[in-house]
Amino acid sequence: MKKNLLMFTAVLCLSLCTYLYGCDDTKSEKTTEQVSTKVQGKTMGTFYAVNVVGGYKGGEQALTELAENCFKKICDEISTFDKNAELAKFNEFKSTEPFEISSDLSKIIQDTVYQGRRIDDATDITVGPLVNLWGFGINKRNDSAPSPEQIEEVKKLVGFDKFELRFENHKNYLLKKDPDVRLDLSTVGEGLGADAVAEELIKQGYKNFMVNVAGASRSYGVNAEGRKWKLGIEDPTSPTPKLFAPICALDKAVTTAGSYRNFFKDEKSGTVYSHAIDPKTGYPVSHKTLSVTVISDSAFEADALDTGLLVLGADKTLEWGEKNNYPLATIEYKDGKPVMRHTKQFEPYLKCGSETSNK
Ligand code: FAD
Repeated sequence: MKKNLLMFTAVLCLSLCTYLYGCDDTKSEKTTEQVSTKVQGKTMGTFYAVNVVGGYKGGEQALTELAENCFKKICDEISTFDKNAELAKFNEFKSTEPFEISSDLSKIIQDTVYQGRRIDDATDITVGPLVNLWGFGINKRNDSAPSPEQIEEVKKLVGFDKFELRFENHKNYLLKKDPDVRLDLSTVGEGLGADAVAEELIKQGYKNFMVNVAGASRSYGVNAEGRKWKLGIEDPTSPTPKLFAPICALDKAVTTAGSYRNFFKDEKSGTVYSHAIDPKTGYPVSHKTLSVTVISDSAFEADALDTGLLVLGADKTLEWGEKNNYPLATIEYKDGKPVMRHTKQFEPYLKCGSETSNK
């Protein structure tokens, strides 16, 4: 059930959260389209796509290998779905003794905590036990909400003070304050994946490409027609893929967190519960903010912020974005319709003309 829903979600996300514009209807003259190497596949319970304009040396097979090697490294570190991953092993480690981890995992944890701290602890990687309780983790999807007593009990395992990172004798350790503490880095997986592939392509000298891992994208340079990449924020109220607002990627990372695709409905009450969980209340968000889009230099950073900002809701998100100079957009329900608001820093990304880049 969850798998099907996730796969369905992913298909929608690939075609929608990151609409790609191969051509531009507004232009009158015809341009010559460059050859591209395009690959797509599955990773992290979702889908990915990579498009290298001008072609990738070694073709599709080599590009697939590059992407999947990047994703494998991330999955081996942070998956909570693969029992052999480092983080899954830590979660299963029922002890408060130090647990040795790789320096890469330690850095991901530190950086994610840092981003969560910036937004009032709304992105909190200790939500793992709540994610499982609400049926969004490795456990089966729920058909009813947990009881308030269960939520209160599980909340005792949530909070930045429930784990500790230590560096001793050139080794990194992770410690739980309670053997049942579980960490969840799912919120940054897609961003890490998009960055890893993009950084590798840049290192290899590629100047024009787009990488998408579900709701996270990194683009660079121009598309096959020599025009700046365009993306789209999807309409969160549409049951079928529908563009809500086109945006220009402008060599940036773009991620969207939405409360509208990954959810379950309580059979008895009919209440719909999103997978974005407020760590302070222990409940999935229930306000009218449907999605938050973040633009940043790094997809990791954008991904580490978007879920927490979704938890905070549109008003606080926009206030935080203005104060911190971030291009952010929110979509919320108002008078029965989806309404987009954005920070002034988001404006340049909405002005997608038919300009070409010099790259
Ligand atoms: P985002 O908004 O980016 O993140 C939401 C997720 O973050 C929630 O599902 C929850 O896990 C967590 N979360 C919720 N609230 C908070 C909060 N306040 N602070 C911090 N985190 C929060 N799924 C499968 O079904 N099968 C798999 O094999 C599988 N493998 C995976 C491997 C990896 C390495 C990763 C990272 C994820 C995997 N997933 C798998 C999970 C699945 O793809 C997730 O749904 C996805 O990572 C969540 O991303 P999102 O963009 O949908 O939502």
